[in-house]
Amino acid sequence: MLYRIPRLYDSHTHFLATGEFSSGLNLGSLQRAEDLATLPLHSSSYYRGDWLVGFGWDESQWPTPPHKKVLDQLFPDRPVFLARMDGHRSWVNSTALNILGITSESGILMEKDHLRAWDHIPTFSSQQQKSHVMAACRVFNKAGFTHIRDMSCSESLWQLLVEMSEKQELTLAIEENYTTHDLGDFDKMLGLALYAKKSETPFLRMKGIKLFYDGSLGSETAFLSKPYNGLKEGPQGTRLWEISQVEEVIKRTWAAGLEFSVHTIGDEAAHEIVQLARKISAQGSVGRLNMEHVQLLRPETIQMMKPLHVRCHMQPCHWLSDRVWLEKKLGDLYRYVFPWEALRAAQIPLSFGCDSPVEPPSFWRNKIALDESAKVKIRQFTGDFTVVHSHPDVQFADSYSVIEDGEVKEVVFAEKILDLT
Ligand SMILES: [Zn+2]
Repeated sequence: MLYRIPRLYDSHTHFLATGEFSSGLNLGSLQRAEDLATLPLHSSSYYRGDWLVGFGWDESQWPTPPHKKVLDQLFPDRPVFLARMDGHRSWVNSTALNILGITSESGILMEKDHLRAWDHIPTFSSQQQKSHVMAACRVFNKAGFTHIRDMSCSESLWQLLVEMSEKQELTLAIEENYTTHDLGDFDKMLGLALYAKKSETPFLRMKGIKLFYDGSLGSETAFLSKPYNGLKEGPQGTRLWEISQVEEVIKRTWAAGLEFSVHTIGDEAAHEIVQLARKISAQGSVGRLNMEHVQLLRPETIQMMKPLHVRCHMQPCHWLSDRVWLEKKLGDLYRYVFPWEALRAAQIPLSFGCDSPVEPPSFWRNKIALDESAKVKIRQFTGDFTVVHSHPDVQFADSYSVIEDGEVKEVVFAEKILDLT
């Protein structure tokens, strides 16, 4: 099967992290903590300032769990930070703990401490950042993509992208969004987004603000209308914001003429956001709403989306990773999972992406996920899959990609054939 797709689009990515991961220290091959000593650690892309930074370890098959003493032996003086494959935990040494001012018996940091440590690591040099941007462009181009939507902008990334775009070094058309982590940083993010709008280029657009409203199904933090695992009573996940806080963020984002994007994985999280957007619109304030992931939507929520300026961004490939536990975890709610066909039938605009680096960017994996999931009680997507994977704006950077049986044959961006070797 041969596809020739204009503006092949990945509608939900973490752009810089994709570049970092492709050239950084990957610990996915470790069979036990001590094997770290056997990895070559000389590449300058493994270091941020004097910190050694890696990611991707998975201790589930290790004989003993990771511990700071292993790192202390190998790295008595240098701070070390190694993130787990799920991005929710890190393994650090005593030098790092001292610098961070965190006490930990094991050297394993969870959630808040983990995020604090992450924020504390020195930033990459501008040289390193540029090489990550180039690496990320290569990763997406090789997968056939010419258009991406990034959810994780930073001030320095935007600056770099503008410079590269002006020098015609970009081989992707990029849409950027700033993520706001709490109300305290919202003003700053809004200001940065508005400022960035002034320096847009033909291949670079600033879209708006994103926030997380709930967590993930894997960690049972996505916010559901019923308890997890089909139980009568029990945890239903969490909301990360008060609805009144979200209301203020949406109103101010829309008033600034920017798009509002929100991470909603659970059905109740999505329902509350749609309800809120309806309320705000009824008050006369309008703007664009992007719903990220929407892995679970009830039919009434989809109906309520109809009058809104909404687009849903889904990643079929997540189904490939989640399929083993999905039905058990969701109980009754399983019938609402991955509602791409229900959205299509309701004529809600829909775009597909891959959530890289959580999943590898791949048009073909999404196709496989759609084909395979239809065999296990997930309603088959009957729309044109290539349309949903194409950037909806025909004015945004002319391009096409040729993919045959999963292999990327040719990518043409801005009238140039890209070198994919
Ligand atoms: Zn994401």
